[in-house]
Amino acid sequence: NKQVLFKDYVTGVPKESDLCIGESTIALKLPEGSNGILVKNLYLSCDPFMQFLMRKTEGHGVFSSYKPGAPITGNGVAKVLESNHPKFKKGDYVWGTTSWEEYAVLEKPDALFKIEHTDVPLSYYTGILGMAGVTAYAGFYEVCHAKEGERVFVSAASGAVGQLVGQFAKLRGCYVVGSAGSKEKVELLKTKFGFDDAFNYKEEHDLAAALKRCFPEGIDVYFENVGGKMLDAVILNMRLRGRIAVCGMISQYNLSEPEGVKNLMLLIDKRITMRGFVNFDYYPQYNKFLDTILPPIREGKITYVEDIAEGIESVPAALVGLFRGRNVGKQVVVLAHE
Ligand code: NDP
Repeated sequence: NKQVLFKDYVTGVPKESDLCIGESTIALKLPEGSNGILVKNLYLSCDPFMQFLMRKTEGHGVFSSYKPGAPITGNGVAKVLESNHPKFKKGDYVWGTTSWEEYAVLEKPDALFKIEHTDVPLSYYTGILGMAGVTAYAGFYEVCHAKEGERVFVSAASGAVGQLVGQFAKLRGCYVVGSAGSKEKVELLKTKFGFDDAFNYKEEHDLAAALKRCFPEGIDVYFENVGGKMLDAVILNMRLRGRIAVCGMISQYNLSEPEGVKNLMLLIDKRITMRGFVNFDYYPQYNKFLDTILPPIREGKITYVEDIAEGIESVPAALVGLFRGRNVGKQVVVLAHE
């Protein structure tokens, strides 16, 4: 049973060498007296929040750290091989937090979602039908309440969350612009996801000017994924009573000191609303979310790009690649298809 093991606590940007592949023996049956489930992991979801778990948190904060020497945990899609838990039975597919190994005994599977719809790719439950989907949906529809005709800006726009926010904005009839870190990603935004415009933030020496070029009349809604200099430039370009949905600030996660946002005072003059949100607050509405998102997926009105790496050995590179923008679309690792 191959496993992704955590070596030791990390400072700064995680490196591939902070993880390694180990092997354990597993009986492939539930231990005596277990109330859990035995699963075969199929797809693993590489997510930016996992870097917080690689740091020593000393028992505070939302996340508790990985244990050095132990397998890491993260979101994934798995098949139930055996169950002593009332919510699941053998043969079910589930998504949610799993131990990152080929086979795992999950003693507390209550928070896992049972997958009811298998006519769409199972890997989608790591992304568009999983945490990234709920995040994009909640942030766009419940937090920033963008209206038809409004001007929407999305950063990290080609990623797991951003590509969906852009498409939701187009379905709403908004004007939408995205930023991303390569020419290839910018092309994808314009040709595949239907963004009205897009720019490569790494090639713009003046972000405020780039935003002004794309939004001569200013931004109504900003879906914030990166923070730092981008946020500062966006605030300058926000319209009166604009809304900022703070989903993430990936550019800040590895800094010892967060970058100063100089334009924050403008929140007052411009009457800007800035609101953070967390995906799991919206999990109770998961079925409502599915009812809304499955029809446009089936009708081809929403598309989803995944960056699929093969095999458990590819996890270290795939996961740390998120922090260098290596992924094009949602980063998934496939261990098995069934
Ligand atoms: P992505 O698929 O977008 O992957 C991460 C991307 O972030 C990279 O591809 C890269 O794209 C960009 N990036 C990496 N480092 C930097 C940097 N220093 N400056 C600017 N951009 C950077 O990830 P997700 O879609 O899964 O997540 C997007 C954001 O949403 C993250 O901030 C994440 O933490 C947050 N999030 C929040 C949730 C919530 O509940 N609030 C839930 C899920 C995610 P590029 O090449 O374009 O730079």
